[in-house]
Amino acid sequence: MFTSDILKGRVALITGGAGGIGFEIATAYARLGANVMVASRNQERMDGAVAALAKEGLAIKAVKTDVRNYDEVKNAVDTTVEQYGKLDILINNAAGNFYCPTADLSPNGWRTVIDIDLNGTFYGCHAAYQHLKKSEHGGCIISIATMLGLSGWPGAAHAGAAKAGIISLSRALAVEWGDDQIRVNTISPGPIGDTVGVQRLYQETGREELERKKTALGRFGKKTDIANAAVYLASDLGQYITGENMVVDGGRWLKYVAA
Ligand code: NAP
Repeated sequence: MFTSDILKGRVALITGGAGGIGFEIATAYARLGANVMVASRNQERMDGAVAALAKEGLAIKAVKTDVRNYDEVKNAVDTTVEQYGKLDILINNAAGNFYCPTADLSPNGWRTVIDIDLNGTFYGCHAAYQHLKKSEHGGCIISIATMLGLSGWPGAAHAGAAKAGIISLSRALAVEWGDDQIRVNTISPGPIGDTVGVQRLYQETGREELERKKTALGRFGKKTDIANAAVYLASDLGQYITGENMVVDGGRWLKYVAA
């Protein structure tokens, strides 16, 4: 079951895959035998990601993409299929966020986050559909959300609304595309300690201890926790799972509900 080549023969496209959680997923997938394409805006960061894995003998590829632009997302999908011959897995991971009380949030700030997170996810799913339905393994879409989408996210209502939309979109597609054997799931991470976002938001603002205590396990997660969930869902081990929101948050949302 848990073999070291569990994703052999799979082709994966990962938006925002050159850094943070996306790069951890790219690394795990490549180590487990998948052919990986990462897609984001910053060419330097993508070159760094390709070079870092090359040192391990893993050859991933990169395509410059702004997920707010449908043509660029379609180009990322088409380039993946041109380079690797097919597409089996799409990871919608790219996201933008910033804290801002909603009364002070400009329509432009709102639109930007909705464009990256929600519209970018829709664009990815839409552009990938024709290819995913041809996958001999069954197509797989995983989009990265958060339970703060479902609870509402005071101070980041734009990101919360986008993530709630991603979960709803994914559940609709799980049903619409089930006959095509495409599985559509989301992963909702809790606070992941080794990411820039959590370092900036919690560790540098002295809120680390408070935020740790909000989780049932009393600790932050690691990027590998999310990559492991993404491996499971994309592999044959997750073949009967669709329309699911896999919560990987150390029990944070339950602690909110139980409090
Ligand atoms: P991150 O380090 O900020 O990475 C986000 C990635 O998205 C970057 O690589 C960025 O690359 C890319 N990106 C941003 N805007 C883009 C655009 N318009 N087009 C294409 N790519 C774009 O974030 P992270 O912490 O790894 O988070 C990854 C995912 O997990 C996100 O969906 C986030 O909402 C979710 N999440 C994270 C946490 C956490 O604790 N960190 C918790 C819950 C959910 P470029 O700048 O090069 O484009």
